[in-house]
Amino acid sequence: MTSSYNVFPNPVKIPHNDECPVCSRSAEGSVLPRKDAFWITCESCGRFAISGSAYATVGGRRHLFSPALRAKLSADIREQTSREPNFIFCTGWFKARYQ
Ligand SMILES: [Zn+2]
Repeated sequence: MTSSYNVFPNPVKIPHNDECPVCSRSAEGSVLPRKDAFWITCESCGRFAISGSAYATVGGRRHLFSPALRAKLSADIREQTSREPNFIFCTGWFKARYQ
């Protein structure tokens, strides 16, 4: 009776000092069960799922992305999650929009 998207596992320390991989504000993270993905809860971006590879791309190489692009990405994630509750921010979604 549990949906993996609605399970809140124990919070985990996310990489990069508990900063949101998108906007760098302080955020809480947890691991999405059975997936290479994280839940991020950020006051700016909202609550969203991000794949491990997208996390590495966006969070691990944040110097490659301008503040303007990060602000747009943050807004786009909010909009996408509001329309699609099971949305996962993955590299395919990112590349389709920004590369
Ligand atoms: Zn954020």
